[in-house]
Amino acid sequence: MNCKNIIKELSNYLEDALDQPLKSSIEHHLEGCEDCRIVVDTTKHTVQIFCNSEPAPLPEETRARLRDALFKHLSHIRSQPKA
Ligand SMILES: [Zn+2]
Repeated sequence: MNCKNIIKELSNYLEDALDQPLKSSIEHHLEGCEDCRIVVDTTKHTVQIFCNSEPAPLPEETRARLRDALFKHLSHIRSQPKA
């Protein structure tokens, strides 16, 4: 297990989606590697903030613009001749 592997498995590790042996080797690495410990701690913290915050509603203006863009996009697709 090296630092690259830790980063690769980070999201799985935080979601607790790893097999026990893999999880143990990550934890073992974290005990000896401060850099990865900081990364894991920071990410964990960020994820918690992210999950706890309410999704911000889109302002009406943004929604309207999004709708316009979507309609334009769709009509553009429809007007293209079929290949
Ligand atoms: Zn490391």
